[in-house]
Amino acid sequence: MMKTFQKIEQIRDFLVAKRKEGFSVGLVPTMGALHEGHISLIDLARKENDIVVCTIYVNPTQFNNSQDFENYPVSLEEDFSILEKHLCDVIFHPGNEEMYSDKECISFEVGHLDTIMEGLHRKGHFPGVARVVTKFFNIIRPDRAYFGQKDLQQFVLIDNLNTSLKFGIELKRLPIVREKDGLAMSSRNRRLSHEQREKAVVFYQALEKAKELISEGKDPTFVKDEITKRFDALPDVSMEYFEVVEATSLAPLSTLNAGTDIALCIAGFVGGIRLIDNMILQLH
Ligand code: AMP
Repeated sequence: MMKTFQKIEQIRDFLVAKRKEGFSVGLVPTMGALHEGHISLIDLARKENDIVVCTIYVNPTQFNNSQDFENYPVSLEEDFSILEKHLCDVIFHPGNEEMYSDKECISFEVGHLDTIMEGLHRKGHFPGVARVVTKFFNIIRPDRAYFGQKDLQQFVLIDNLNTSLKFGIELKRLPIVREKDGLAMSSRNRRLSHEQREKAVVFYQALEKAKELISEGKDPTFVKDEITKRFDALPDVSMEYFEVVEATSLAPLSTLNAGTDIALCIAGFVGGIRLIDNMILQLH
């Protein structure tokens, strides 16, 4: 029977007892409105751990835009039944008063990650993510935690956090799950109108185009210009950034060398809805 907890004390007691019995714990943190991307994480966690914990929490401190926070999709009942079907053991679904108190005395400075891509364009986002993930790691104390490549920069942040704070958690990064036309699955896709949904595939198409140009030997500046031009010509869709970076450090690249893993990262808007996507390539 799947268990649902809203109180820290209760989930902690439950997991302490399970750990005493020698059970391993896998954590999948989410903001709910679950889709197949999330499910891929749950399924792997299920294979690799005795106890699978999924958190569903729309964390206010990581939203730099209050409209985005207020309009974030919520579908709890559906999420619960998806998780039950995928044999999740524990849902942790706390309220804000449980996660934050008037005694808050931590804040995060996330270094260079705040000066590029998501960090640059969403001020306060990563410090908020670091804050909430640290709380979840402390409450749940997982052996393993599962994340998607979809939020590549977030994964690098959490990896750095795990190293800095010596959590010793085994972190897993899973591939991006896409719709048939290539659009990366995202809870925010639910907010797209039919027309917007059709247009949203341009982010994936731009990544495919960039991949092609890179395979032809074009340098990052040229590729960036081409992708920018593509978006300039499109109505109702805008690009916020496109970057060619080293896949592990996320350092921007101006030249490409064989043997390097690179990531093509893109973000932009369809109507008022912000979408991100990326692709990792190995240069030969
Ligand atoms: P979210 O609920 O959007 O905060 O995402 C929770 C986790 O699911 C994060 O680790 C995301 O990177 C991951 N995720 C979101 N979308 C996808 C996707 N399309 N494919 C794989 N993982 C995803």
